[in-house]
Amino acid sequence: VDVEPTPSDVFLRVQQARRHGLTVGCVPTMGALHAGHVSLVERARAECGFVVATIFVNPTQFGPGEDFSRYPRTLDDDLQLCRAAGADLVFTPTAAGMYVAGNDTIVQVCELSKVLEGACRPGHFDGVTTVVARLLNITAPDRAYFGQKDFQQQVLIRRMVQDLFIPVEVITCPIVREPDGLAMSSRNRYLNPEERSRAAQLYQALLVARNLASTTTLSPSEISRAMTRHLEKTGGIEVQYTAVVDAETLAPLSARTGGTGVALIAVRVGTTRLIDNEVLMFPPLRGPHQSA
Ligand code: AMP
Repeated sequence: VDVEPTPSDVFLRVQQARRHGLTVGCVPTMGALHAGHVSLVERARAECGFVVATIFVNPTQFGPGEDFSRYPRTLDDDLQLCRAAGADLVFTPTAAGMYVAGNDTIVQVCELSKVLEGACRPGHFDGVTTVVARLLNITAPDRAYFGQKDFQQQVLIRRMVQDLFIPVEVITCPIVREPDGLAMSSRNRYLNPEERSRAAQLYQALLVARNLASTTTLSPSEISRAMTRHLEKTGGIEVQYTAVVDAETLAPLSARTGGTGVALIAVRVGTTRLIDNEVLMFPPLRGPHQSA
């Protein structure tokens, strides 16, 4: 697999592939790759003629006091995984290459960036959309692949792409989980064995939500509270939020109607922040005039 740190060289390589008639897929990551990332690269490989993975620990999406400096960096292993998953090119820019001296532009998705994750991590999504816009301009892909794991992130990126007429198809890939249900994450390696076993309760809480959505008429906010209760009874988990929201607008669902919603969880386990989510199917409500 070719490794290229320079934006202008990546741009030229991609244009060359395009002139050969290849469709281009891009998979943005921060490295410390695991099976979740690999699933994105494999999906891109299956759907595109030329696959670019990007590895960049983007400083602007970390807040003060967050884990930027200790974020895992495992480039040699990452390149092996990219190669094995079928990437053609890995873009490994430097911070100075992405944020050239004197740069003065950010991209903000104004409202969606301020709720949920954005409320807990002020400025985080401005960093995400600013770097993803740059990565999409440099790699100019036909398709860009993101994980459902970061549910709000893919909602914002879809919004940005639509609002700025960026000519790319955004593809959201399913969450890859460990055998006990824990969503794979580069941050899981921060967990000590005790924390690691507690972390499995995030998925159990999502299963509680899924079960309540399908077998009861509890309201979305009651389902959200049931997730919080499940997490709190575990002990050693600090709940930052649980929510049941509309999958496009991220607005809290006020009442049960049929259709879908998404259950979201953010917690701290020790010093490690974890997020997870699950799409919920709400069965159509039966009116009083209908018989069972
Ligand atoms: P990150 O390196 O954490 O920025 O993640 C890069 C991409 O991989 C993002 O689009 C994530 O949503 C996606 N991703 C991370 N973890 C998973 C997972 N467990 N399953 C599927 N996609 C994931």
